[in-house]
Amino acid sequence: MKATDSHCHLDDTRFDQDREAILERAQAAGVSTILTIATGATLEEQSRALQLAEQYPFVYAAVGIHPHDAARASVDWPRWLRDLLQHPKVVAVGEIGLDYHYNFSPPEIQRTVFAQQLAIAVELGKPVIVHTREAWPDTLALLKRELGERPRNGILHCFSGGPDELAAGLGMGFYISFAGVVTFPKAQRTQECAQRVPLDRLLIETDAPYLAPVPHRGKRNEPAFVIEVARKIAELRQMPVDELAAVTTANFYRLCLPGSAGAQ
Ligand SMILES: [Zn+2]
Repeated sequence: MKATDSHCHLDDTRFDQDREAILERAQAAGVSTILTIATGATLEEQSRALQLAEQYPFVYAAVGIHPHDAARASVDWPRWLRDLLQHPKVVAVGEIGLDYHYNFSPPEIQRTVFAQQLAIAVELGKPVIVHTREAWPDTLALLKRELGERPRNGILHCFSGGPDELAAGLGMGFYISFAGVVTFPKAQRTQECAQRVPLDRLLIETDAPYLAPVPHRGKRNEPAFVIEVARKIAELRQMPVDELAAVTTANFYRLCLPGSAGAQ
């Protein structure tokens, strides 16, 4: 098995006690590549993900201002974000987007910071990792306006939309990533979308430490559990789990690390 967890938060304090063991368990389970998504509103906070990527060869990082943090990002964030994005192990701008469920930042500020980061991604030629909650119309409109047609636009992470949002995302060239939610018995709509995504646009993730898949639901999530997501989608699509893991890993490399050995 060669699976990729395309979205987790290894820098989370809930991993402070046993981070090393978690990474060993991931590798033992067949997780060969991990993308850790930086969080926080300062250079210091966002650098933690990068430190982990420097420490472990199979870990890569994404940096970006989450919509929750849009209002409290330090004023000079565009400068240090650009600097972090120059690092060879920082492969994407994320997670960025809009979250109208919590509105921890006022929607208007969320939209401004999102649009600014989309422009930076275009400028630097990086894919974006999009978080959206109760904000599909504005999210899609901004993606359309700022990104346009790019071959490596990015990832709609923890996909929770329906057939219309799926079609819109695919139409713009996005890859679609599914998290543990797809294993929940009541997640029928998400399961249908996971069945329908073209195989060459599919990705899997944990979003650890959040959203643990069945049978770990309710517990702290960790990258090793991405295998459960792979198992569920492989079952839905009636294909071997190893093959699903290999294809989603190749997709990840093609999108985030073009030109690397894994991107064949
Ligand atoms: Zn996340």
